[in-house]
Amino acid sequence: MKKGDIILIGIGVALLAFAIVFILVRPKAVYVAVYEDGVLMDRYPLNKDTEVTIRTKDGHWNVMQIKDGTLNVIEADCPNQICVNTVPVTKTGESILCLPHKISFILEQ
Ligand SMILES: [Zn+2]
Repeated sequence: MKKGDIILIGIGVALLAFAIVFILVRPKAVYVAVYEDGVLMDRYPLNKDTEVTIRTKDGHWNVMQIKDGTLNVIEADCPNQICVNTVPVTKTGESILCLPHKISFILEQ
Protein backbone atom coordinates (compact mmCIF):
# COMPACT_ATOMS: atom_id res chain seq x y z
CA MET A 1 0.00 0.00 0.00
CA LYS A 2 1.27 3.44 -0.87
CA LYS A 3 1.52 6.23 1.63
CA GLY A 4 -1.19 8.16 -0.28
CA ASP A 5 -3.63 5.24 0.06
CA ILE A 6 -3.13 5.09 3.82
CA ILE A 7 -3.83 8.81 4.11
CA LEU A 8 -6.99 8.42 2.02
CA ILE A 9 -8.22 5.53 4.17
CA GLY A 10 -7.40 7.59 7.26
CA ILE A 11 -9.49 10.49 5.98
CA GLY A 12 -12.36 8.13 5.14
CA VAL A 13 -12.34 6.60 8.62
CA ALA A 14 -12.18 10.06 10.21
CA LEU A 15 -15.16 11.26 8.17
CA LEU A 16 -17.18 8.17 9.06
CA ALA A 17 -16.38 8.58 12.75
CA PHE A 18 -17.37 12.24 12.54
CA ALA A 19 -20.70 11.34 10.90
CA ILE A 20 -21.47 8.72 13.57
CA VAL A 21 -20.63 11.12 16.41
CA PHE A 22 -22.75 13.81 14.76
CA ILE A 23 -25.77 11.49 14.60
CA LEU A 24 -25.29 10.24 18.17
CA VAL A 25 -24.88 13.65 19.77
CA ARG A 26 -27.65 15.32 17.79
CA PRO A 27 -28.81 17.82 20.37
CA LYS A 28 -31.87 17.17 22.47
CA ALA A 29 -34.66 19.50 21.55
CA VAL A 30 -35.75 22.23 23.95
CA TYR A 31 -39.37 22.77 23.05
CA VAL A 32 -42.25 21.56 20.92
CA ALA A 33 -43.54 24.02 18.35
CA VAL A 34 -47.09 23.36 17.21
CA TYR A 35 -48.03 24.61 13.77
CA GLU A 36 -51.48 24.69 12.20
CA ASP A 37 -51.32 24.98 8.43
CA GLY A 38 -47.75 26.28 8.72
CA VAL A 39 -48.62 28.98 11.27
CA LEU A 40 -47.03 28.74 14.71
CA MET A 41 -49.79 28.25 17.31
CA ASP A 42 -47.81 27.66 20.48
CA ARG A 43 -44.62 26.36 22.01
CA TYR A 44 -44.26 23.99 24.94
CA PRO A 45 -41.06 23.32 26.90
CA LEU A 46 -39.91 19.71 26.63
CA ASN A 47 -38.60 19.63 30.20
CA LYS A 48 -42.07 19.98 31.72
CA ASP A 49 -44.33 16.93 31.63
CA THR A 50 -47.75 17.88 30.37
CA GLU A 51 -50.75 16.83 28.33
CA VAL A 52 -52.35 19.40 26.06
CA THR A 53 -55.34 19.16 23.77
CA ILE A 54 -54.61 21.06 20.57
CA ARG A 55 -57.78 22.28 18.90
CA THR A 56 -57.82 23.14 15.21
CA LYS A 57 -59.80 26.03 13.72
CA ASP A 58 -62.46 23.64 12.43
CA GLY A 59 -63.01 21.94 15.78
CA HIS A 60 -60.81 18.86 15.52
CA TRP A 61 -58.31 17.90 18.21
CA ASN A 62 -55.04 16.16 18.96
CA VAL A 63 -53.86 15.30 22.45
CA MET A 64 -50.15 15.90 22.78
CA GLN A 65 -48.16 14.44 25.65
CA ILE A 66 -44.74 15.60 26.85
CA LYS A 67 -43.11 13.16 29.22
CA ASP A 68 -39.45 12.75 30.21
CA GLY A 69 -38.37 15.00 27.33
CA THR A 70 -40.30 12.95 24.78
CA LEU A 71 -43.14 14.17 22.58
CA ASN A 72 -46.00 11.87 21.71
CA VAL A 73 -49.47 12.30 20.26
CA ILE A 74 -51.66 9.97 22.29
CA GLU A 75 -55.12 10.68 20.92
CA ALA A 76 -56.74 12.45 17.99
CA ASP A 77 -60.02 12.50 16.12
CA CYS A 78 -58.38 12.35 12.70
CA PRO A 79 -59.43 9.58 10.29
CA ASN A 80 -56.03 7.98 9.65
CA GLN A 81 -54.53 8.06 13.19
CA ILE A 82 -51.02 8.33 11.72
CA CYS A 83 -50.06 11.00 14.28
CA VAL A 84 -51.14 8.69 17.12
CA ASN A 85 -49.22 5.77 15.64
CA THR A 86 -46.03 7.77 15.06
CA VAL A 87 -43.28 6.73 17.45
CA PRO A 88 -42.47 9.31 20.17
CA VAL A 89 -39.74 11.80 19.22
CA THR A 90 -37.01 13.43 21.31
CA LYS A 91 -34.47 15.11 19.04
CA THR A 92 -34.25 18.48 17.33
CA GLY A 93 -35.76 18.43 13.86
CA GLU A 94 -37.93 15.39 14.51
CA SER A 95 -41.66 15.84 14.15
CA ILE A 96 -45.08 14.28 14.39
CA LEU A 97 -47.50 15.31 11.68
CA CYS A 98 -51.27 15.13 11.46
CA LEU A 99 -51.98 15.73 7.81
CA PRO A 100 -55.81 15.55 8.02
CA HIS A 101 -55.70 18.36 10.61
CA LYS A 102 -52.72 20.16 8.99
CA ILE A 103 -51.05 20.12 12.42
CA SER A 104 -47.32 19.65 12.85
CA PHE A 105 -45.54 19.10 16.14
CA ILE A 106 -41.89 19.95 15.55
CA LEU A 107 -39.05 19.66 18.04
CA GLU A 108 -36.96 22.80 18.01
CA GLN A 109 -34.17 24.44 19.96
ZN1 LIG B 1 -53.77 12.68 13.00
